[in-house]
Amino acid sequence: MNKKTTTVDCPHCKKLVEWTEENTYRPFCSKRCKLIDFGEWASERNSIPGKSVYPAIEDEYDQ
Ligand SMILES: [Zn+2]
Repeated sequence: MNKKTTTVDCPHCKKLVEWTEENTYRPFCSKRCKLIDFGEWASERNSIPGKSVYPAIEDEYDQ
């Protein structure tokens, strides 16, 4: 029962995250952190007023 697990720090909130196949949000701790971090990145790159870059995000906040 010696399961090897790699852990990383969430780039957004610095929480310890297990790097596993199940964690689809890695290296982030959650979908929320991933979206927030990616959103900040994208907002710097895509400064187009009135254009929705992530139209499907709201539907995915239902955890
Ligand atoms: Zn986080």
